[in-house]
Amino acid sequence: MTKDYAEKRASLAAKCRRALPEPGEAEKKLDARIAALREELRAELGGQIPGSLPVLWDEKLRESGLYALCRALPKGADLHLHSIAVLPPDELIDFLAARRDVVVGTLAEERGKLYLASDRLGAEDGRMELAHALEIDELTRAELRELWSVTGRAPDEGIWDWFEKLFDRHMSLGTSPAVLGDYYRAAFRYLRENGVCHAELRHLFFGSKEDARAAAEAIREAYYEVRREFPDFSARVLGAGLKYRHLPQDITDMLMENALYAHETVKDEFDPASPEEFVVGIDLVNEEDASRPLGEYEEMLALLRARWPEMRLSLHAGESHEPESDNLIDALLLGAQRVGHGLNLYRRPALLDAYRDAGVTLEVCPMSNQTLGYVPDLRAHPAVEYFRRGVDMVLASDDPAYQEITPLTDDFFAAAACWGFGAAELKQLAVNSLRRAFVGEARKAELVAAFERAWEEFAARVG
Ligand SMILES: [Zn+2]
Repeated sequence: MTKDYAEKRASLAAKCRRALPEPGEAEKKLDARIAALREELRAELGGQIPGSLPVLWDEKLRESGLYALCRALPKGADLHLHSIAVLPPDELIDFLAARRDVVVGTLAEERGKLYLASDRLGAEDGRMELAHALEIDELTRAELRELWSVTGRAPDEGIWDWFEKLFDRHMSLGTSPAVLGDYYRAAFRYLRENGVCHAELRHLFFGSKEDARAAAEAIREAYYEVRREFPDFSARVLGAGLKYRHLPQDITDMLMENALYAHETVKDEFDPASPEEFVVGIDLVNEEDASRPLGEYEEMLALLRARWPEMRLSLHAGESHEPESDNLIDALLLGAQRVGHGLNLYRRPALLDAYRDAGVTLEVCPMSNQTLGYVPDLRAHPAVEYFRRGVDMVLASDDPAYQEITPLTDDFFAAAACWGFGAAELKQLAVNSLRRAFVGEARKAELVAAFERAWEEFAARVG
């Protein structure tokens, strides 16, 4: 290669990168380390890093130096998590095996479905404590792992059909404040131990208004407890609404009313001198291709906002196969500050620019996108373009327990291994996640400062 050609090449390559803060010495070394580990992985895998899920579950990947680095990396906030889909099957088994207030179904369609012990129907209902079911080999860990994650899906079953069954099997975890609180004590610790320092959960506030208040209080108490252990940890909740075509509108209305009531009655008073919102806003969730268009919720959202002016809005949009149901125009018009996924923006470049100019943040969940079949090959994930175009973006993990992924670790690994992202890009994604978190400015500054310290220490140690 001539010197002239090499210079032109380097100049064009530099233009393709997103302008990011100039890295310090330690960060440059960390960047070189990430590149070296990626090369090591490529060599180990025979010359190419594949982008498909079965390979990402491969032991060679999980035992690689690059994966270990991503596990230890400070990763900021996970802004897109669905309630009760955080603790991985093995941890959930341990959690439930120690409880007497939750039982598991063992008969036919009920197999693996959780119930409160108070919902037992009688001696012949097949529902039993999990410890007992394991002890008598009525259920095994291997079967539960399959019943509680995507690994158990039959090849001819639709992924969303299976996914809905997983939610249904675990639904009871959210119906008792005592169980919910203990679940989140375990789940928040698990997240923090995996380098996640702030979590934002979508929670379905079923039941009465007082049920909603009790659920929010239980999650808040769990968060307080974990924050006492890890001062840089915090959590927020968004009330989730459902938008299935077949679902009566009054169920969505009830979920929204309950979210508003939980918002009004449960605050984050960890620091009594500066209380903050705890239930900070709402989201409309579930499979987009099976849902009503978001535009139909214009009036509902306007009425809700009139009573809840500071309501934060994150909407699932652009996570669909059908172009007609991607909802991306509506999410922008409805005033979403953040959008879950936004995958299909590549279909409308003008809209992509509008998102960037409006400063809407995309909550990109690469591992989830692959599991659910929206991006079969992670190397071709459209978010790489969005990031380089300057669209605001964070990485998030969606339903990590059901997808058998480690929250954020696997998503950052996908970015490092399959997108070629280095230290500057990974840091930007993590910092974005804290800047876009739905917390007050003072708390945000604390989280960013703690992250910067952790990052510097990590770069100095690993680089
Ligand atoms: Zn989601």
